[in-house]
Amino acid sequence: MSGVVGIVSKKKVGKELLFSLNSIQHRGQDSAGIIVSDGKNLTRMRGSGLVSEVFSEKNLNKIDSHIGIGHVRSSPEGLNQDYNIEPLFSFIKGEEFSIGNDGNIMNYKSLKQDLENEGISFHTHTDSELIIFLIARYFKGDIVEAIRKTMAKLIGGYSCVIAMPDKLIAFRDRLGIRPLMLGHNEENIVIASENSAIEILGVDDYRDLEAGEIIVVDKDGFKSYKMEEDLNPRHCIFEYVYTSRPDANIDGINSYMFRRRCGEILFKESPVDVDLICPVPDSGTPSAIGYAQASGIPFAEGLVRNRYMGRTFIKCTQEEREIAVKQKLAPQKAVIKGKRIVLVDDSIVRGTTSINLIEQIRAAGVKEIHLMITSPPFKYPCYYGVDTPNKENLMASRLDVEEMREAIGVDSLHFISLEGLISASKTNGESFCKACFTGDYAKYGEKI
Ligand code: SF4
Repeated sequence: MSGVVGIVSKKKVGKELLFSLNSIQHRGQDSAGIIVSDGKNLTRMRGSGLVSEVFSEKNLNKIDSHIGIGHVRSSPEGLNQDYNIEPLFSFIKGEEFSIGNDGNIMNYKSLKQDLENEGISFHTHTDSELIIFLIARYFKGDIVEAIRKTMAKLIGGYSCVIAMPDKLIAFRDRLGIRPLMLGHNEENIVIASENSAIEILGVDDYRDLEAGEIIVVDKDGFKSYKMEEDLNPRHCIFEYVYTSRPDANIDGINSYMFRRRCGEILFKESPVDVDLICPVPDSGTPSAIGYAQASGIPFAEGLVRNRYMGRTFIKCTQEEREIAVKQKLAPQKAVIKGKRIVLVDDSIVRGTTSINLIEQIRAAGVKEIHLMITSPPFKYPCYYGVDTPNKENLMASRLDVEEMREAIGVDSLHFISLEGLISASKTNGESFCKACFTGDYAKYGEKI
């Protein structure tokens, strides 16, 4: 998981990039970087840590630039090295070029192998570097054509922003798996993973890029280049369950309302008689409210969240995740002791964080715990940019629901049905990727 932003502004973009990146910090907390253009050259600043640890408003205020891109990254396990911090910088046929990407290229290994066989050496583990080499290969003066040819080669989910000295370019993968949006007003043209990064700059007029759409922004405004072929989009449904901020409006669906409806649907599918409905904050909160309102059972904050801790799912290692859960969530004994509770969480991936959390809640003297999950069993790895373990390490892939209940140590365990999840979107679900629940990966017209 990562977040990207690109800005062309009448104002200096340093501070704007800082505000936008802060708004999508939840998409990646391992590193942050920006690249800005002074009209002739690109300058890069980047580092490990949160946006606020890498940049200061004072330093970014000094940047005299009107074009820039930014990136926040959550690294896959073992790939947290400095040289992987994005945006990446390079040259294409002598022109300075930089790129940041959110997503994952499924055929990365074979494309990389082809390039290495031709003598090209890679300096990072990132998909972005592969994309740079492909664009460079196809670039004969027309950047849109080079990107189109590159996209025809790539299989996977990706949302890219590119800064060149005189322009900003963005493109969304051919199935629109990862989100990407364009917003504009008189002062700013902003591209970002989520609307929060656009609205923070006072831009209220925004839309999603279509699947396969390329946007080029320069001093004259922006132009859109649509895909020539017509593929059915496969927007990531997990964005609404967990990844995005609750105020995200991605491909016409608001994440908060989606999560609320999931809670209501869960109550219809799995009603339980308890004293309190408690969320695992933050992504479980809207669904717990939905469950509480549908059932008429009081909502209560049974867990206290340490606001200064980041997201646990996107920590690199299992050990980091377990320590993070302990530091992040503490049972509120005064609320839950002696009570029968429904606990609402977004997903069970490896299962180990759920086991640890339930142990803590049990130790607080809870009478019964009924765990409600607002996604179906996560049985298959994601190959489109959400960093999940391989199939053997996904709890739902190894165990059935009763075995999971026993392993986690709850009185009952309920998952929303796939039909229920889809109905929360108020669509027929055809335009969603749901592969982590179904194993039905997009085909792109060729076998993956
Ligand atoms: S496999 Fe799951 S997490 Fe990955 S893109 Fe599809 S819906 Fe999203």
